[in-house]
Amino acid sequence: MLNQMKTYQMYIGGQWVLASDNQTRKITDPANGNLIGVVPEATVMEVNEAVAAARNAFDNTNWGSADNALNRAQLMMALANKLRENAAKFAELDTLNCGKPLVESEGDVADSANCLDFFAGLATKTMGETVAVPMNMQSMVVREPIGVVAQIVPWNYPLLMGVWKIAPALAAGCTIVMKPSELTPLSILELAKLTEEVGIPAGVVNIITGIGEVAGAALVNHPDIDKIAFTGGTDTGMKVMTAAAKGIKNVTLELGGKNPVVVFADANLDKSAEWIAFAGMANQGQVCSAGSRILVEKSVYNEVIERVAKIVTHIKLGHGLDEGVRMGPVISKEQQDKVMSYIEKAKAEKCRLICGGSLPKGEQFAKGNFIEPTIFADVEPHHTLFKEEVFGPVMSFTSFDTEDEAVKLANDTEYGLAAGVFTESVTKAHRVVKQIRAGIIWVNNYHPTFNELPWGGYKKSGIGRELGKYGIEAYLETKQININLDEGQLGWY
Ligand code: NAD
Repeated sequence: MLNQMKTYQMYIGGQWVLASDNQTRKITDPANGNLIGVVPEATVMEVNEAVAAARNAFDNTNWGSADNALNRAQLMMALANKLRENAAKFAELDTLNCGKPLVESEGDVADSANCLDFFAGLATKTMGETVAVPMNMQSMVVREPIGVVAQIVPWNYPLLMGVWKIAPALAAGCTIVMKPSELTPLSILELAKLTEEVGIPAGVVNIITGIGEVAGAALVNHPDIDKIAFTGGTDTGMKVMTAAAKGIKNVTLELGGKNPVVVFADANLDKSAEWIAFAGMANQGQVCSAGSRILVEKSVYNEVIERVAKIVTHIKLGHGLDEGVRMGPVISKEQQDKVMSYIEKAKAEKCRLICGGSLPKGEQFAKGNFIEPTIFADVEPHHTLFKEEVFGPVMSFTSFDTEDEAVKLANDTEYGLAAGVFTESVTKAHRVVKQIRAGIIWVNNYHPTFNELPWGGYKKSGIGRELGKYGIEAYLETKQININLDEGQLGWY
């Protein structure tokens, strides 16, 4: 058990540094408010230093060269193994920092190590092509690392979201300046220590800690950044994209969602109910792909609500490190207030409260940001709960009569990240999957995702894809080369 508060430094150009004005931020455990760490609050000066270090490592070393691809792969696999050796420490740290149950953090750490291995495999497989063209030319397309990348990640998966970005960038041969969320920077700083231990050269991975409006904004607006990779809220994504537009920078965005889960009457309800509860309540509902809008065929509507509510009301709430806990606190007091304001709004809009809807009572919850897992029924498309991402343990239920209506309701959102479909009919499942505009769709399950498959959204859920072979694409440039095989003159003038 990590019980000693630690003071952290940022990692810039292979050095561990404080903020130039010595400003710091206290990091607390959202389950009880205990101080768990102190990190520097970066100023624009440290952002500039980090970008300069990354620029130097990219421009003046062989880090990104094809000659170095095997070395990059080996370093990444060494990093994956180091992470596995320290898995218990990392899992505990993410639970302490962001509140999620330990079993979830353990899964995140294992996924992170596997993600590094997956992309290590791709580091040596960057391939271009030759293309048959006229004019006696030998033409080819080669892929090269995009350069210095700015990576900004949120607080809901502190380690995993960071690794989803670091791994493909390292494999491609890019150099990195990453800014974790100001609320959850600890596991990424610990990961930076491991990059140093395994010998990833100075300047290749740089970590700055600070707030979005200062460090994040300075990073995305920096002229020496070649690409921005951002995961976070849609409003922040718009600001990031505006900065990218001003600098004509390549940008990928992983943003929010208001994800539908369509449950047909022919679904196996014995198996489906738990998946549906998991869709909405995993990680306290603080998941971009959370299945928060449950759309149920009318004939089984009340039965599905009853079954899911029964599961949800028995979820064990508590500190994520405690035995058997499956729901921790939300990340901050601010987030707790925001979620509770959605609950109050749903009550005011006359949605039918099925369970939860309050802060849990009891001494053990008094100092943490806990919220009762909450379900509302009879939520209509005009209700706020149907439209807006809550990012908390709140699920809404809506009924439908026909398959067409189900698809219409599912697509009635500005987002398009994920969706679920529950049915025993394979033809119906395929028909519905084809029509839902979302980047990830689960049938008769919800949430499992794999390093081998692309992750990302349609519509306002983002631009581009992470993971899979698509993930490395985001970090590669494409160069056309034409070699003249003709010995003659051009003869133009
Ligand atoms: P957020 O947008 O508030 O912050 C995300 C990151 O952006 C943080 O590191 C923050 O410091 C930084 N930031 C804030 N303002 C900035 C600015 N002006 N310029 C540059 N950086 C800035 O999001 P959050 O509250 O940390 O995370 C929750 C959101 O993330 C949710 O909307 C969720 O859906 C989304 N999310 C999406 C995915 C996905 O894969 N699509 C995954 C996880 C989370």
